[in-house]
Amino acid sequence: MAAAGWGGRLPEQIVKSGHLHPTLGQAAARILQNMDPTKEPCDDFYQYACGGWLRRHVIPETSSRYSVFDILRDELEVILKGVLEKSTDKDRPAVEKAKMLYRSCMNKSVIEKRDSRPLLDVLETVGGWPVIMDKWNETKGPQWKLEQQLALMNAQFNRRVLIDLFIWNDDQNSSRHIIYIDQPTLGMPSREYYFSEGNSKKVREAYLQFMISVATMLRKDKKLPKDNKLVRKDMTQVLELETHLANATVPQEERHDVTALYHRMNLKDLQHKFSLKGFNWTLFIQSVLSSVKITLLPNEEVVVYGIPYLQNLEEVIHMYPPRTMQNYLVWRLVLDRISTLSQRFKDARGSYRKALYGTTVEEVRWQECVGYVNSNMESAVGSLYVKKAFSKDSKNMVKELINKVRAVFVETLDELNWMDEESKKKAQEKAMGIQEQIGYPDYILEGNKRLDEEYSSLNFSEDLYFENGLQNLKANAHRSLKKLREQVDQNLWIIGAAVVNAFYSPNRNQIVFPAGILQPPFFSKEQPQALNFGGIGMVIGHEITHGFDDNGRNFDKNGNMLDWWSNFSAWHFRKQSECMVYQYSNYTWDLADKQNVNGYSTLGENIADNGGVRQAYKAYLKWTTEGGKDQQLPGLKLTCDQLFFVNYAQVWCGSYRPEFAIQSIKTDVHSPLKYRVLGSLQNLAAFADTFHCTQGSRMHPKKRCRVW
Ligand SMILES: [Zn+2]
Repeated sequence: MAAAGWGGRLPEQIVKSGHLHPTLGQAAARILQNMDPTKEPCDDFYQYACGGWLRRHVIPETSSRYSVFDILRDELEVILKGVLEKSTDKDRPAVEKAKMLYRSCMNKSVIEKRDSRPLLDVLETVGGWPVIMDKWNETKGPQWKLEQQLALMNAQFNRRVLIDLFIWNDDQNSSRHIIYIDQPTLGMPSREYYFSEGNSKKVREAYLQFMISVATMLRKDKKLPKDNKLVRKDMTQVLELETHLANATVPQEERHDVTALYHRMNLKDLQHKFSLKGFNWTLFIQSVLSSVKITLLPNEEVVVYGIPYLQNLEEVIHMYPPRTMQNYLVWRLVLDRISTLSQRFKDARGSYRKALYGTTVEEVRWQECVGYVNSNMESAVGSLYVKKAFSKDSKNMVKELINKVRAVFVETLDELNWMDEESKKKAQEKAMGIQEQIGYPDYILEGNKRLDEEYSSLNFSEDLYFENGLQNLKANAHRSLKKLREQVDQNLWIIGAAVVNAFYSPNRNQIVFPAGILQPPFFSKEQPQALNFGGIGMVIGHEITHGFDDNGRNFDKNGNMLDWWSNFSAWHFRKQSECMVYQYSNYTWDLADKQNVNGYSTLGENIADNGGVRQAYKAYLKWTTEGGKDQQLPGLKLTCDQLFFVNYAQVWCGSYRPEFAIQSIKTDVHSPLKYRVLGSLQNLAAFADTFHCTQGSRMHPKKRCRVW
């Protein structure tokens, strides 16, 4: 039955009625416009909450997905554009550098004029790209060493090809860092593109053509004779090699159990277990670490995450001659640098991008540049954003919300009969031990030198965008490698402030809410509490619950991988999870060639979504029973409780291009937007009560799943 109707007043009238608080009017208008009140909330709540939004929005040619979230990100970028373009004469060094990097990125005429020159120069320094050289086999080939080439790519260009080597918090000892060895990423977004039929084949063909075009252009620039046969042969071998590597990797959905992935051993064992037909691990790892002046200890330990991959790599590693290997390694560098080159190189990528994302037009230049500067200099850009768009008193309000939701998480443990008292106590301790970070790290606004020191090695020039980019690659690689001999800084922010997202870190038992997400529809001091609880409250619950999902549950309150579960509770956790795996695996996504959602890959996120909305709703009810009086929104015939769920759902209004849906279903650990809403609300009895859904209706199924 339909319990909630539409007030019938036009949103514009609401906004204009003078006696109302303007933000209340705006919130009401936004919610009404996004809804489709002609739909039955108990049948398809997603269409009911988002139908209006979906009808009014067309995915821009430049986007692979378009959603309420994506629009918030676009709006944030507009703010960043403003602050990065503003010239003042008293910027601190970090900010000066960020603005310089932005200007160099916007400097199109110089980028066009310099064309392929800077790329050709850098290719010289990495031993050359054989496909665009005369006589590589004779001149460079004989001295070529795989270990050193891999190390060069890793340490100087942050390209971790063939073997992934990185420094991270030791899962078993959260206060120290350790060397990790893992299977690498590939040139295309997921392994299926290398061997599946259908759309994957199209992508694969476009990928090969893209390689061929770039090599052909560069040969011409080097005034080498045209040799289509050679280029095609070389690049086809590169794709073959990468296909073997893809085959050697383990699919993401089989890599969920971190306790099974983790294998700590010393260098000797590593060499012994994975000799890879004479691969010198010490030479490789020491060459990487020498770039930051670190010497390996005689008994240095490494954690191997990718055991099956290394076993499979044994077969592949000597199947191809050095020429093909070098062609591949350098291709991965070229692929990564295309964005920083002149337009004709980006054009060469057009068909590949169309096949992969469905987009036909590149992002506008300023947007690309804002995104680039923000992701490479997040603290500097964060400081500009926070000054411009964040009010400090939000911090305390969000802190209070966190405490409310956390308290509910703990109280709710009492309801769970699948868990024994012993494990509940441990879960409670862990929840109480979660550290929170809200808004931004204080140091980015202060007068101290820390912010400037973060970027002290960087020296940008307005005319050298390509080289500026190389500096960033190196700085990012070194920043992370250097940590090996450093203690873990528990206060370090794992993400910038100008980001519309939130995070949980299992190694730190920490939740992070950057300033970028602390805005409507998630949060506002002025909007009704139903919206705040359904928005940021749900996000808070989601992040807390990540500490207890199939991955997070393996870590204790101090971020150490340690089994704190009784056998009884662990067994039942798996049982409860299986229900959700089955539930989500049964959602068929039309857009993604009618493939089903992968219930295993998305399990952690689904557990978090389910826990998040449940806790947030309970926290809202508790707030009202404790005397909280919520504001009414004008013109909406929704109860406050209903409003909570509508705002929750509307955070996820959005649509995908089919090409990107096909990609997402393989690579995204989140369920498709629609199923995030439907899956979590189908499991929540309080939702069906609020909308008076009869049992057997789609939103009130007979069988429900619940973990937390
Ligand atoms: Zn999540």
